[in-house]
Amino acid sequence: MEVLVIGAGLAGVTSAWYLSQAGCKVTVVERQPGPGLETSYANGGQISVSHPEPWANPGAPATVLRWLGRKDAPLLFHPRADAAQWRWALAFLRECLPARTARNTAAIAHLADYSRDQLRALRASTGIEYEAGTGGILHLFMDARDFEHVPAKLQILLDLGIRARILDPDQATALEPGLAAMRNRLVGVLHGIDDECGNAHLFCRALAAKAQEAGVRFLFNTTLNAFEALGQTISGLRVEDADGRSGMLRADAYVLAAGSYSPLLTHSLGERLPIYPVKGYSITAPIIDPERAPHLSLTDEARRVVCSRLGNFLRVAGTAELNGYNLEPDPARSAAITQWLNEHLPGVADASQAEHWCGLRPTTPGNVPLIGPARTGKLFFNTGHGTLGWTLACGSGRALADIVTGQKPEPDFPFLRSR
Ligand SMILES: Cc1cc2nc3c(=O)[nH]c(=O)nc-3n(C[C@H](O)[C@H](O)[C@H](O)COP(=O)(O)OP(=O)(O)OC[C@H]3O[C@@H](n4cnc5c(N)ncnc54)[C@H](O)[C@@H]3O)c2cc1C
Repeated sequence: MEVLVIGAGLAGVTSAWYLSQAGCKVTVVERQPGPGLETSYANGGQISVSHPEPWANPGAPATVLRWLGRKDAPLLFHPRADAAQWRWALAFLRECLPARTARNTAAIAHLADYSRDQLRALRASTGIEYEAGTGGILHLFMDARDFEHVPAKLQILLDLGIRARILDPDQATALEPGLAAMRNRLVGVLHGIDDECGNAHLFCRALAAKAQEAGVRFLFNTTLNAFEALGQTISGLRVEDADGRSGMLRADAYVLAAGSYSPLLTHSLGERLPIYPVKGYSITAPIIDPERAPHLSLTDEARRVVCSRLGNFLRVAGTAELNGYNLEPDPARSAAITQWLNEHLPGVADASQAEHWCGLRPTTPGNVPLIGPARTGKLFFNTGHGTLGWTLACGSGRALADIVTGQKPEPDFPFLRSR
């Protein structure tokens, strides 16, 4: 079976890999000159199985209201004359209902757990290196009221089969001496024991190279301009290379893994994908004091900031901004992340030398990705991974390949079904 994959971010590269392992002849179409150069470039680095709860949860509306009008708020809504944005915002509010949050949390947890296992198996079988870190994620709580909810959160994780435990500030600092500078701010810590971290861009590059060795063809600098359809079935892709030459590509199946741009590409097919771009920021600062730099990945739960050690750098990421496809960096948002680094890990990394970046998370209202067949014949989706595209990458790619090749995917997850 010949398969064309659109997009070489985390979703596209993992789809291509598992499809080729399943015996398909795979070609990847990517507009950038290499893999992982858009949203998968400089994310927070976390494989965060212990954080399956979506942003859309019963506490979210009050939190968003509390932050309204603050330039440095972790979540910022820029109202636009954009029907897609308002449709998404209303759907987000619906997903905040307790039953929906519980259902979405369970779906994400099952896929995330499977995905981490797939990532480990892939690492072992291919030997790829991407600055992986194991030992878990420490969710930091610095507000006693927030920490009151942690035992209930822990129970939800344990019920879902995810290993986690509560640590007091001394236990946490003993486990991760890098917390010493913020020890006195801590009220308590939730340790996601089996979580990991790693450099998503390096991973995309390394896996794409392995896929190439296995026969996958990558067409970089090649943009999908439109799907061509015969009736209700895709018959080809109209593409254009960097020199403006256009052409048609055909296959037996087409996998759309174009991140935040997926809904723009399916519009002409009458497929309306509930995905909206949610902008986030990161800084990647060189470590200047390796002794005091944390080895375990950290999440500041109140500030919604994550911090991962990637090689000789600290990656600090966070903030969410609904502002359409605008990729212009807002200095106030970057400054909030830099300030977090300087306040919580003073003297550990040199923020003045940091690489600043922002990217668009392809986010569905409930943060549950769209994986499986489209309504349109021969088209499949692997997109909409929102805040957890790195965590869910390998599991999503593997499940997608199973679906395309007619196998039943393993995880208990609401995969799309052919209609
Ligand atoms: C600040 C920030 C922090 C994050 N932290 C984490 C984290 O710690 N853990 C985690 O699990 N997730 C995290 N994420 C989320 C994660 O990075 C994303 O979910 C993931 O990168 C999405 O991958 P993707 O392959 O779907 O999209 P992308 O990486 O954007 O890939 C889509 C690809 O499609 C290509 N494309 C689009 N349109 C076309 C076209 N017309 N023709 C050809 N090619 C096209 C693009 O060039 C791109 O390469 C974070 C995101 C952000 C922004």
